[in-house]
Amino acid sequence: MSDTQHRPAATGEATPMVTISRLNKWYGDFHVLRDIDLSVARGERIVICGPSGSGKSTLIRCINHLEAHQQGEIVVNGIPMTNDVKRIEQIRRNVGMVFQHFNLFPHLTVLENCCLSPIWVQKKPRREAEKSAMEYLERVRIANQAHKYPGQLSGGQQQRVAIARALCMHPEVMLFDEPTSALDPEMIKEVLDVMIELAHEGMTMLCVTHEMGFARTVADRVIFMDEGQIVESAPPETFFNEPRSSRTREFLGQIL
Ligand code: ADP
Ligand code: MG
Repeated sequence: MSDTQHRPAATGEATPMVTISRLNKWYGDFHVLRDIDLSVARGERIVICGPSGSGKSTLIRCINHLEAHQQGEIVVNGIPMTNDVKRIEQIRRNVGMVFQHFNLFPHLTVLENCCLSPIWVQKKPRREAEKSAMEYLERVRIANQAHKYPGQLSGGQQQRVAIARALCMHPEVMLFDEPTSALDPEMIKEVLDVMIELAHEGMTMLCVTHEMGFARTVADRVIFMDEGQIVESAPPETFFNEPRSSRTREFLGQIL
């Protein structure tokens, strides 16, 4: 085993899927994440909310090293994050990500978008990759659009493709960064329904979203961030009915 390949210690059910300890990050002089501690259990569903600019995107992007941090530790599925490219790749194989603006490749069909990484990263034979991709597209109810280009689909359809594309890599944990906030209202439900199904199937999920109905139904824990800190972390019932922090109450007052 090369020194860049970290073999996780015997991972039992009790080993968290993601552990973040004392995480600090700066953009230049701007201290964007302050002493973040967060442990995500296997199968746990976490919703992260908070005002614009509070560091939500930065936090989840650190988990697959789309952003580098300067202090603290991140461990994903037993693998400690370093700046080593091989290690980052190893971590990314465990993590699926869905963005606000879908980020599909416009010049590739839906099916090609889904097969790209399985073929080039996982080295799957094309036929096998396509078969598996069609199954995931079926699951997000969009298999009939497999040969269209993203530009020919609605926003809700594109976002479901983006979810299927992430699932094609068989991630252990899924990160969602405001997956419905760029969608017209009538399309939000079709995307949330897919996310709810995924949650019921036991996927570990970290979702940045202001869909508080989703948080109430699906989340094991709701986290409120403000100015780079986790201000509140509680099961939905406590979070919505008896928030401890005045900042959480103020935020909820604005969005509910
Ligand atoms: P949120 O997702 O909660 O809206 P972000 O994590 O996107 O917050 O951003 C947190 C803060 O960091 C904001 O003030 C934002 O302007 C700043 N920021 C985000 N990305 C960068 C960057 N690449 N360089 C400098 N500042 C950034
Ligand atoms: Mg954001």
